[in-house]
Amino acid sequence: MAGTRSSDTRVGTVSDGAPGDAEFGFELVTCRWAERAWPPDPDRDTDAVPVVARQLGTQKRRWDTVIVEADPAGLSARAAFGERTLDSDLLHVVRHAPAEWAWYRDTLPDPGYPWRYVRAAVHRAADRGVVETRRAGNRIEIRQVAPYPDWVRRIVAVENKPDLSASAARRLGDQLEHDVTTALADEVWVATAATGETVEPALLEDLPVEAGVLVMAFDGDGPEARVAWHPSALDPSADTSLSAAEKATTRLELAERAYGSGWRSYVETMRPDCRWFELRSASGAFVPWCAAMECHQTAGACAGDCPEFQPEPPAWRTRGWPIEGGPGKGIQRLLARRRRRVRDPEE
Ligand code: SF4
Repeated sequence: MAGTRSSDTRVGTVSDGAPGDAEFGFELVTCRWAERAWPPDPDRDTDAVPVVARQLGTQKRRWDTVIVEADPAGLSARAAFGERTLDSDLLHVVRHAPAEWAWYRDTLPDPGYPWRYVRAAVHRAADRGVVETRRAGNRIEIRQVAPYPDWVRRIVAVENKPDLSASAARRLGDQLEHDVTTALADEVWVATAATGETVEPALLEDLPVEAGVLVMAFDGDGPEARVAWHPSALDPSADTSLSAAEKATTRLELAERAYGSGWRSYVETMRPDCRWFELRSASGAFVPWCAAMECHQTAGACAGDCPEFQPEPPAWRTRGWPIEGGPGKGIQRLLARRRRRVRDPEE
């Protein structure tokens, strides 16, 4: 399906202003930029709020960056269900819970699996406060805490490739063909770093014409993004492997995961409790920095088996926390606070 592109776009190896040479840093900066500046096309007038997450997808396909374009009123209404993701079982309960008390089996659609699993989900939903329950004899009745809002307008997938070499473009081309065919997202993009070099149009010919190309330049406080190729809206009806209802459910589950995790959750799998873990400001985003190795470490390297790991000294925990130099709990709080502010700008 790859079509012919011609472009004078300048892409290539990552520029000096990018956050290190790890794709991870590029990804974090792209996420932060998307949170502040999405959509990149100045002609597209939208009041949608971007909810940005990273490393999300399905069993078959994981995207680097996911942007859920949320309806502002719907997003505010979603807050009634808490900050955490509603998984598929909880969504089944919450979306169909009635305004008035009713036996859960009377009101929830037949799930296609045993009702005892639904009952377990009803209890879990009640524990989370996302639905109300009461007993009526032997029966469990449920009632909604609020109507579950229609908050997801569009889902955009972005692949981050700071260094779009010919072989990277070929590999990406195959993955993007899959995205175009399945059309689970409404739009797909490749984000790459600007360089001073001229691009070979042949490089872009490996990408499907439906995929947009975003060129990020890292001068100044935050990246400047330029649309080098506009994407086409994908056609969800083209893929018949999922019904429209199944696709809508999968998209909502994805959006819920984006809402719950955001893009700053990397800190949960890294080692901010290490004395060498720092956050450094790079192109408008906080990006992890390893003071032991003096580089922007990857999430994979900054793990339990890192040979340089050292616990932060207990005395640090009794002092205030500079952003650079820990302590880890302060870093986690900072990132959690920023994540909450995205969901609720009034906070
Ligand atoms: S020394 Fe290892 S665990 Fe500690 S911050 Fe660096 S990469 Fe992470």
